[in-house]
Amino acid sequence: MKIVRLLLILLASGCSIFLLIILLFFVFPFFQTSNYENTPERKLFTYDPLLLEPAKTHFLLSYKNNQQPPEGQIHYLLSALEKSRQKLMSDFNLSTYPSIFVLVFTDRQQYETVANIHVVDQQPLSGFFHDQGRVYFFIDSAEPSIDFSEFLSLSMHEMTHEIMKEKLNESFKLTPIWFLEGMAEYECRPESIKKERNQSVKSNKNKKYMNTLDTVDAAIRSRKSQDEMLLGYYTALYFVDHLIDKYGFEKVMQVVDSMPSTDKSFYDAFPEVTGDKLEDVYAGWFLGL
Ligand SMILES: [Zn+2]
Repeated sequence: MKIVRLLLILLASGCSIFLLIILLFFVFPFFQTSNYENTPERKLFTYDPLLLEPAKTHFLLSYKNNQQPPEGQIHYLLSALEKSRQKLMSDFNLSTYPSIFVLVFTDRQQYETVANIHVVDQQPLSGFFHDQGRVYFFIDSAEPSIDFSEFLSLSMHEMTHEIMKEKLNESFKLTPIWFLEGMAEYECRPESIKKERNQSVKSNKNKKYMNTLDTVDAAIRSRKSQDEMLLGYYTALYFVDHLIDKYGFEKVMQVVDSMPSTDKSFYDAFPEVTGDKLEDVYAGWFLGL
């Protein structure tokens, strides 16, 4: 019996040591890894993130499965990302900018599956912001050259989402999509394009999905009609432009900044800062188009 008991004690202490080893070497490091390490997307990327001067660039760039990026592409992407970061830091008056993971897909289908979106019109470029601090880009490998200014706009758009997420934190979910997309478009589009798109909003004023801010939200989310979706984006940009004109950039940001501490939705926070109801501001603006 003594031998059996001794064996049991040895087995138990062996088990404890075994458990300790597991805790030390497997479980503990798991808790220390970043969000990104534990994502399903991480499995798609056999490369380690290309840590290219991270202190300087703030971006951890990674390509999908053994895909060697075309010559010069990394430099090209990083310079666009860095340019976007500098413009946004100055526009939003930020002193720091978080490091972000930038994942580049060259396979359209895989990108669409992971980002759960559809790339319109078989475009060679697309971007997607994941609200956990990750930005995905799709860059068609079949496309011989990618327009740098297009990629710059795209990176500014996605990185504006990142700034809004940083500012809003949990209140990001309480912010209407028209405002988030409108802000991102506001940051990335030059005046000439804004004018062109505003014109298109004016000439489509009679469309039902333009009637209220809620219908604009639904249009942006629309998977049925690409025209409807694009017009939703154009309207969001035009209206955000109007809000910034009317109240000033700082006041609009004051609404955003007040949200996390008050737990209020954008619609409730807006009148507290400006004294006006958003629905009324939209209706007035819409009538005057
Ligand atoms: Zn967006």
